[in-house]
Amino acid sequence: MKHVKLHIPGPVEVSEKTFRAFCSPMIGHRGQGFKDLYARMQPQLQTLLSTRQLVYLSTSSAWGVMEGAIRNLTAKKVLNCMCGAFSDKWLDVSRRCGKEADGLQVPWGSPIRASEIEKRLATGQFDALTLIHNETSTGTMSPLAEIAALKQKFPDVMFIVDAVSSMTALPIKFDELGIDVLLAGTQKAFALPPGLTVFTCSPAALAKAATAKDRGYYFDFVEFQKNAAESMTPSTPSIGHVYALASKLEDFFAEGLEARYARHLKLATQTRQWAAGHGFTLFPEAGYESVTLTCVNNGAKPGGRTVDVAKLQKLVKDQGFLIDGGYGKIKGTTFRLSNMGDETEATMAQLYAALDGAMKQL
Ligand SMILES: *Cc1c(COP(=O)(O)O)cnc(C)c1O
Repeated sequence: MKHVKLHIPGPVEVSEKTFRAFCSPMIGHRGQGFKDLYARMQPQLQTLLSTRQLVYLSTSSAWGVMEGAIRNLTAKKVLNCMCGAFSDKWLDVSRRCGKEADGLQVPWGSPIRASEIEKRLATGQFDALTLIHNETSTGTMSPLAEIAALKQKFPDVMFIVDAVSSMTALPIKFDELGIDVLLAGTQKAFALPPGLTVFTCSPAALAKAATAKDRGYYFDFVEFQKNAAESMTPSTPSIGHVYALASKLEDFFAEGLEARYARHLKLATQTRQWAAGHGFTLFPEAGYESVTLTCVNNGAKPGGRTVDVAKLQKLVKDQGFLIDGGYGKIKGTTFRLSNMGDETEATMAQLYAALDGAMKQL
């Protein structure tokens, strides 16, 4: 069957080089070979996250660590900032973990604002906060630096940040931001296959986790720290993913992180221009558009053109590209185009050409 190239916002297209690395011969995860592999990546991962903390590798999709963060770090009550499908779900997940949890809900397409968080944290009820930096369902980025600055005022609140669809596409300086957990699944901007999550914790988060009674084993942050100190993971990791990540980190540093960030912004800007050129408006509030995907408004909000999204998807798919038809309650009234991972001006030009061709038939 002919492969349809992925331009959905995750999983994204995986390169041949990455797949070759993924298929490296198996090694033991307690042997020197594995330790050397992880140890070699550690400084690169620390540079990528701008941290002196150890960076951990979890064999799970992002939700494993997102749930783990709740279990490790919520003793009193967690405030879940909600602005789209993934961030809304985090409230539900917190409650399923048996935690006291409240939502700070804003309309989909709006970012989370620091002032709103501040009001809620000022009640003194909360000891943890979850934030999705780049809400993938709505293509909206919240102002992370402004929000992280609140940590100064509320040092005892654990700031847990999901950067699943933004990490590697723009700088996120963990130590400087002063947040407590930063995590990303690898099937988004990392352009690896799904199944691995990269994350790190502040010393305060590790200290608090150590006091959490019901943190379990698989996602015990204290275990991750203890094992990472010896270049290992708590349980047997997906070793193929670790090889693939090592290969991908080579790619990141060969390109240069600044160039990688600039590329993502440029391609997102071009996609926004493509949408405007066809009479569409964007779903996210102006000024908060994602750099890794574009969520095109197609009737979810007033203004702009609308098309039959299912038909658009089919016409584009016939030309070899998979685009997303909108997520959750904005399915069909938005559609999403991903530019994250390895995309270039040349590969995006092929997508725009396919979209242009489809639009002529709508
Ligand atoms: C994809 C995504 C997730 C969920 O990732 P899984 O791999 O399904 O666990 C969480 N948060 C954001 C922002 C995402 O884009």
